[in-house]
Amino acid sequence: MTTNDSRTAVVVLGGGIGGQVAATVLAKKLGPMGRVVLVERLPQFVFAPSLLWLMTGDRQPEAITRGYAKLARRGVEVRHAGVTGIDPESSRVETTEGAIAFDYLVVALGAVAAPGMLPGLEEFAHHPYDLPHAERLRDTLAGFGGGRVVVAIASLPYRCPAAPYETALLIDGHLRRRGLRDRSSVTMYTPEPLPMPVAGPYIGHMVAAELARHDIRFHAKVQLERVEAGRLRFADGATAEFDLAVVIPPHRPAEVVAASPLAGPGGWVPVDRATLRTRHTNVYAIGDITAIPLENGMLLPKAGVFAHGEAEAVAGNIARRVRGDLREKPFDGHGLCFLEIGGGRAGLARGNFYASPVPQVTMYSPRRPWHAGKVAFEKYWLNRWL
Ligand SMILES: Cc1cc2nc3c(=O)[nH]c(=O)nc-3n(C[C@H](O)[C@H](O)[C@H](O)COP(=O)(O)OP(=O)(O)OC[C@H]3O[C@@H](n4cnc5c(N)ncnc54)[C@H](O)[C@@H]3O)c2cc1C
Repeated sequence: MTTNDSRTAVVVLGGGIGGQVAATVLAKKLGPMGRVVLVERLPQFVFAPSLLWLMTGDRQPEAITRGYAKLARRGVEVRHAGVTGIDPESSRVETTEGAIAFDYLVVALGAVAAPGMLPGLEEFAHHPYDLPHAERLRDTLAGFGGGRVVVAIASLPYRCPAAPYETALLIDGHLRRRGLRDRSSVTMYTPEPLPMPVAGPYIGHMVAAELARHDIRFHAKVQLERVEAGRLRFADGATAEFDLAVVIPPHRPAEVVAASPLAGPGGWVPVDRATLRTRHTNVYAIGDITAIPLENGMLLPKAGVFAHGEAEAVAGNIARRVRGDLREKPFDGHGLCFLEIGGGRAGLARGNFYASPVPQVTMYSPRRPWHAGKVAFEKYWLNRWL
């Protein structure tokens, strides 16, 4: 930052879902009072929820990918650089393109899929958690002639509590569409006690029932140890043979955050759950990089809907502060999530994840309008923000 610039400098790290919303809202609310800098290492953003439709051949990569030009037009200074250091004490971040000083910092660097953390995943299994891997899985599925399909969750935490279940259900639908379901089996494995446990046992059982309706076998509380050629191997010594394996990869925090003074247990960032403030003044963290304990002892899921809501809250609160208004509007823990089940239908879960003593979440059973809602949400996202 130049020293003769009297504007308040707000730096947003990460141009994913949380970072885009935070930077856009900040630039709009601060106007000439603020200089909003967004640091993102990638030239293009991929809307991750649509990767599952890409996997089944229902989306093309260009339809779910955006550059950052719109953000720049909205007054955000976009810098494509890697963040290499965060120093809250001196109010500076280091990047591959130089240091940036800040008055306020919003860290939105996300969770990184780390398939290398599970032996054999890269060699013998697929996953749809980034564009290149989703494309590879799409091509493999397109050439798949039927057989034993396994969908396994490697470990917790992972992004989006619904996504692995949607993956299994969409693969089921894909196999039906191609007339291959009769000669195929689909089986799910997870270390969780039931699907989407954060939303409570009622919803978990609803999702399990949906899997059963689709003839998807479901095994809970199993810890995957490694993937071998044609075989999953679990920690208790059990094995499962497969012809096609989809394994939701382990996730880790962005390395630069894990190595910074912001990091708490496991490298994730502890924050005040209402304000998203870290233990450092004027430094906030939002989205997947945070660890927010809920009243039921679990963590707030890593989902775009929460990154979005947190970004709106933080951006509004910073903008008010810059204007001298210290009132804060809290992030209230509300969120919603569609569960795509294939065949043009989806369920919808929504509620208050901050409720006490447990999250209050309602699930609406699968219908065509919820699928239309998910498609509309995708359109809104890709047209509104980037
Ligand atoms: C297959 C799939 C399906 C999903 N479906 C849903 C869904 O239906 N609903 C939902 O709510 N959520 C869904 N999610 C989860 C959602 O995508 C994430 O929770 C959301 O993107 C989190 O936003 P974020 O801003 O915290 O992180 P991200 O969106 O991951 O953004 C982090 C950004 O930081 C950048 N970055 C990281 N390190 C550095 C560095 N050192 N220097 C510079 N830049 C860096 C990254 O390139 C990235 O752009 C899904 C995710 C996947 C993978």
